[in-house]
Formats: sequence, structure tokens, C-alpha cells
Amino acid sequence: MRQKYSDSIVRLTRFSLIALVAIILVIAGIIMVMFFRNPKMYSDFETFSLGTYVHLKISTKANPSIIAREIFAEMDRITDKFNPYKEGSVLYNLNHSNDWFEVDDETFALIDLALRYAKISEGTFDPALGRLISLWGFSDFTEKKAEGTDFLIPDEEELEKALGMSGYKKIELDYNRRAVKTNGAWIDLGGIAKGYALERAYQIAKSADPKTTGFIEAGGDIRILGPKFGNDYWIIGIRNPRGDANESIDYIYVKSGAIATSGDYERFFIKDGVRYHHIINPKSGKPAKYAISATVISDDAIKADAFSTAAFVLGTKDWIFTRTVFPKNNTEVFLVAPNKAIYKTDGFERYEKVY
Ligand code: ADP
Ligand code: MG
Repeated sequence: MRQKYSDSIVRLTRFSLIALVAIILVIAGIIMVMFFRNPKMYSDFETFSLGTYVHLKISTKANPSIIAREIFAEMDRITDKFNPYKEGSVLYNLNHSNDWFEVDDETFALIDLALRYAKISEGTFDPALGRLISLWGFSDFTEKKAEGTDFLIPDEEELEKALGMSGYKKIELDYNRRAVKTNGAWIDLGGIAKGYALERAYQIAKSADPKTTGFIEAGGDIRILGPKFGNDYWIIGIRNPRGDANESIDYIYVKSGAIATSGDYERFFIKDGVRYHHIINPKSGKPAKYAISATVISDDAIKADAFSTAAFVLGTKDWIFTRTVFPKNNTEVFLVAPNKAIYKTDGFERYEKVY
């Protein structure tokens, strides 16, 4: 009786031992698979650059911390270099020169690209509104400034004068000398700087490892680096322009490309109950008023950024233009009208579902 009892204890212990070893092996196997067979673990990095919060989510065979550092340094460089209101910057010097002014290749290429987007969007995206942006006080925007009484509404005379000295048609380019002549206008690349920085981030990440996946986000604009876990969609929320920062009114599914949103809630001040924001209608010289937000999906971040600003300015008033011209340039639009009605280009729907 006793012998039988201890026999079954031995059997039980042997069984538990085997079970334990099996469990350990399974766990070790899972860990091995996760780390070696499928290296799609994501690392997250955050910083403040380009006047906004930047979030990088990345999975790569290269060293993610080194890539993050390189990307953030590049973003800081772009912020500084293309600040037209900082004395000594290339755009400051260009804007304050009265003649042809030679610039470096990067600056020339970016101005050239901005002018192309200005033409395609019939001047609703306009990189030569610096005088107006400065007059409205958005050249050195801070939340603190917006809360206080530092913002003033320009008087009509000043506005007319600045308007007369603004606009992309004033800008001349000399492709041979890489020279620019502004003819009194001030170039402000704020409408594409963020997109350009995101595109540079993409290039840096991909040149370190072409199989890099993840995304990088800067103040609501997103550049996809590659599909989630290598083959899945990233689900991106479109912010409710009159809700909390994390409240979405729609979701889009993307594996590549870029998304940009221009909204009247990013940089604004309120005076006598009226909201004045940082996206200027080049025709009136005043904040554009035919939209409260415009989201654009496109193949690259610079294009998405420029077209989101343009779509915002065009708004509901020129929706027919947006609807016909934008998709031809590989951009789909989601517009929130001042009365909160939603307008979408025909191709937008294909990003709202997973097929
Ligand atoms: P955000 O920077 O909030 O994402 P945008 O991408 O629309 O918004 O860029 C707005 C910035 O672009 C402004 O801060 C200003 O520097 C510049 N800007 C304002 N109005 C225009 C316009 N009509 N076209 C091009 N750039 C503009
Ligand atoms: Mg934009």
C-alpha cells in the first residue's frame, strides 16, 4: 500500500518535471521566435522639434536609438535653417536682400518645389506670405502669447500693404546660378517644412535599413515608414477639430505614404469671440475661413503638407477644385466645413476600410 503510494508520487513528480521542462521550452521558443525570426519589436522615441511634439515608432535591424538621434538632429537643423524670422538664417538673408541672391542646393530645391505646389493649387498654397504671417504675429507663436493680449489684429491699411508685397508670383528663380529674387516678398516655408522634415526622417530610417517599419508623427502630420509588423495596416485617427486632442471623427488604414492635417486649432488666438489662426488666405491676407480642418493622404509627406494647407484655404467655397484637381496629384482629401459637415474626395473611401 505504502509502496504503491510512493510510486505514484515519483510518477507525479516525474510528470511535473517533464511538464515544467516543456513549459520552459515553449516559453523560450516563443521568446526566440519573437527576437530572432520576427524582429518587429517597436521602440518609441519622443522629442520637441519643428515647434511641436514629435513621436517616432520604429522597428529596424539597425540601432533604433542611433536612428532616432539622427532624425531628431535633422529636424532641429531644418527648424533652424528654414526659420525666415531668425536673423542670419538663409531665408532671413534672402528675404532681406533686394537683388538676386544665391542659395545652397537644398534651399533652392525646396523653394522650387514650394512654387510648383503653389502653381498646382492655384496659389492657395503660397510660400511667399511671410510679411502677412509676420504682421498677424504668427511668426513667433507661443501658447503663452495666444493666451495673453499680445496678438493684435492688423489694420486694413497695413494689411493691404503687406498683401501687395506678398505672393508666389513675385518670386523668380535662376536655375543656372541657383539664385532667387523675392522682389519684396518674404518667403515662409512653414507650410511644407514639417513635411520636408518628415520626408528626411523617412530617408534616414530607410537608408539605415530598407526594411524599417513604423511611423513618425509631428504635430498631427504622419509619415509611414513601413507596414505594421511588416505587412499590416496602421490605423490613423483623424482628429475632431472641435474635440479633445485624442478624439477622432474618422479612421484611416494605411501601410505607406503620408497624412497631413491643417486645422484652425493648431495656432490661434481669440479676440472678441473671433478665432484668428495661422493659415492665411493669400487672396484676402486674412485667416482662411472656409474650413476648420483639412486632412490629406498622399504618397509623400511634403506633398501631403502642402496640399493640406491648400485644401484648407480652398475649403468648401472651392471644393469642386479640390475634388477634381487633388486626386490627379495622388492626394485624397477629408475636409471639415465650418458648419462641421464632412466632404471627401471620391478616392478617400478606399482608406477607410480594410479589404
Ligand atoms: P500646421 O503647421 O499647423 O500643420 P500647415 O501645414 O497648414 O499647418 O502650415 C501652416 C504654416 O504655413 C503657417 O504657420 C505659415 O508659416 C504657413 N502658411 C500660412 N498660410 C499659408 C498658405 N496659404 N500657404 C502656404 N503656407 C502658409
Ligand atoms: Mg500643411
